Amino acid sequence: MAGAPGAAGPASPEQPAPEQPPPGGLGNEQKCQLMLLRTLQTNPYVKLLLDAMKQSGCAVSRERHFSCEDCLGNVSGGFDASVSQIVLCQNNIRNQAHMNRVVTHELIHTFDHCRAHVDWFTNVRHLACSEIRAANLSGDCSLVNEIFRLRFGLKQHHQTCVRDRAILSILAVRNVSKEVAEKAVDEVFESCFNDHEPFGRIPHNKTYAKYAHRDFQNRHRYYSNI
Ligand SMILES: [Zn+2]
Repeated sequence: MAGAPGAAGPASPEQPAPEQPPPGGLGNEQKCQLMLLRTLQTNPYVKLLLDAMKQSGCAVSRERHFSCEDCLGNVSGGFDASVSQIVLCQNNIRNQAHMNRVVTHELIHTFDHCRAHVDWFTNVRHLACSEIRAANLSGDCSLVNEIFRLRFGLKQHHQTCVRDRAILSILAVRNVSKEVAEKAVDEVFESCFNDHEPFGRIPHNKTYAKYAHRDFQNRHRYYSNI
C-alpha cells in the first residue's frame, strides 16, 4: 500500500498509547524492530531491493526510512511518500514471514518512487502501476498461487490475484470508487505486470529471489567493467 499519512494507512498521532509490554516479554515496537533487522539482513527479495536502491542513488537506512507504529484497522504497512518513510504496523505484523512480505512490498513502492517521478497523490494510474508491481513481485500472490496451482492448475490465478490486490490497495488509500480503481489497474496492467525491475523475473519464492539477486549483482559487475 502507498498512501498519504492518516489515509486509512499509517497510524495517526491521536491513536491511544500502545499497550504496555507483557512482563518478561518484548513490546510490539521492540519485536517489530528485531523482525525488521532480520528481514534487512537475511531476506533475498529485500537485499536485492536495497542493492537496487543504492545503485539508483537512493540508499535506504533503517533508522531514517523505517518507522514501527501502531496502525488503524488491519493495515500492515504503508509508504509515506511525503517523507520517504516506510511505516510498519507493529500491532498487525504477525511474524517474520509477514514482516518479510510487508517490507518487500513497501520497498517496491520506494524503488518506484526513487527511479521515476511518481505522482502518487493525483494520478491514480501511477499508484495503480506501483501496486500492480508490488503485488506481482513481493510474493504477496505467490504463496496462494502455489496452493491454487497445485490444487486447480489455474495458470491465470497469479494475474487475477495481482489485479485484485492492486485494486484493494488503491481503495485502502484513495477515496475513489471501485470502478475508478478497476479502470486504472486495467489501463496500465499489461505494461506494469511485465515490468519486473529490479528482479528481472517474477520471484515466485526465495530461491528465485536468490537467483535474481545474484543476477542483479552480476549485471552491475559487468556494467562497472565497461
Ligand atoms: Zn502497496
